[in-house]
Amino acid sequence: MNASAGRQGTTTSGPTAKQRYSIFALAKNALSYHEGWQQAWRSPEPKKAYDVIIVGGGGHGLTTAYYLAKLHGVRNVAVLEKGWIGGGNTGRNTTIIRSGYLWDESIKLYDHALKLWEGMSQELNFNVMFSQRGVINLAHSEHEWREMRRRYEAIRLNGVDIELVLPDDIKKLVPIISIDPDIRYPVKGGILQQRGGTARHDAVAWGYARAADELGVDIIQNCEVTGFERAPEGQIIGVQTTRGFIAANKVGCVPAGHSGVLAEMAGFMLPIQARPLQALVSEPIKPVIDKVVMSNAVHMYISQSDKGELVLGAGTDAYNSYAQRGSPNHPEHLMAATVELYPITSRLRMLRQWGGIVDTCPDASPIISKTPVPGLYFNCGWGTGGFKATPGSGHVFADLIAHDRPNALAAPYSLDRFRTGYLVDEHGAAGVAH
Ligand SMILES: Cc1cc2nc3c(=O)[nH]c(=O)nc-3n(C[C@H](O)[C@H](O)[C@H](O)COP(=O)(O)OP(=O)(O)OC[C@H]3O[C@@H](n4cnc5c(N)ncnc54)[C@H](O)[C@@H]3O)c2cc1C
Repeated sequence: MNASAGRQGTTTSGPTAKQRYSIFALAKNALSYHEGWQQAWRSPEPKKAYDVIIVGGGGHGLTTAYYLAKLHGVRNVAVLEKGWIGGGNTGRNTTIIRSGYLWDESIKLYDHALKLWEGMSQELNFNVMFSQRGVINLAHSEHEWREMRRRYEAIRLNGVDIELVLPDDIKKLVPIISIDPDIRYPVKGGILQQRGGTARHDAVAWGYARAADELGVDIIQNCEVTGFERAPEGQIIGVQTTRGFIAANKVGCVPAGHSGVLAEMAGFMLPIQARPLQALVSEPIKPVIDKVVMSNAVHMYISQSDKGELVLGAGTDAYNSYAQRGSPNHPEHLMAATVELYPITSRLRMLRQWGGIVDTCPDASPIISKTPVPGLYFNCGWGTGGFKATPGSGHVFADLIAHDRPNALAAPYSLDRFRTGYLVDEHGAAGVAH
């Protein structure tokens, strides 16, 4: 499948029905040396005006555009991306998907997303390699173990699947882990969500881009938003971009790490910090671990990719930055914890390390909200854990933009909560835990 074809050249023709991806299409295209694949999405010139502009071509922005077109009949939509789609945190994360949070509001929102993940490949006719291999969160201290048991009850009360697992169960599920009680991070127990897992991050961006394009959405890459234009009475009337002014009466911003920058352009401040978060992958090895295992308080988590690489995630830097790399002490801490908990990794070589800029709110929960500017909406603050929310986030944000009011799932995440004090504090379940 030639997903990258959509990134090349400029096309002016309108959207066309997509050729279905299937084993038969693969065989048919093999006969022409795979040179006949249709473009996955167009690269149109921006129009002068749209009904809705989405700023940010990550997973959340593309999903929002897709649902606007699919569910709300708003098809005159542009997604403006300053780089290439999926090049932000969507293409940089460690792809852990789960819905085991603490508060009802969060469990409902993340489980809504998890249900959408379960049908995503079929809905998009694009294999996003969603693998429900099970996610285990480990407790390494008595305090953490008590907090985890509370979270287990909260998740069960919401009717979402979760199991308590003791060290011996964990050893059976993850034979490479050390449950020696004398190590620096002893395993006290954990919670297991069997429906949790991983997915292929690029494929999520490409799948939604292709489906949105088919519905008429214009995906415009290399187009940075540099300012907002407002009518004298305050209503948004369009955006200034590196490719000129584009008019729209509704603008949805989904820029992740750059949320604060865009809010400042619009004349208000968000309670957001932008910080680097890092991940690493090892050289490929034979299958050794078929679960995702997270040590939240240690800031270390591990899974194995289909290629055999161990995917390792670290914590956030302690300072704000827009550099897409992180400080060296985090990988060092991560590797020390990895070797302690998974001793067989001691001679493993690391292949790649990278960082992304995550946007974190004081309560570690997202903002899905109207703003002080009429017609301008923000969806941000997903911090270290928004990949798992991608389909649910776009689903509720599209609804907010279409109807100019949040639905029940999005309502707790309005900007207003920082004034009323009704925070959704997920530091225990989110933090850097994905
Ligand atoms: C190392 C790392 C590991 C992570 N691991 C996980 C995990 O395991 N599980 C999980 O659930 N989450 C994880 N996350 C968090 C997750 O990646 C993000 O929350 C999620 O991908 C955010 O998606 P998005 O579409 O909002 O942002 P992005 O994919 O970052 O998209 C935002 C886009 O906006 C564009 N943009 C910014 N400013 C402008 C502008 N002015 N004009 C036009 N475009 C603009 C950017 O170029 C970018 O492409 C991780 C993040 C990192 C960095």
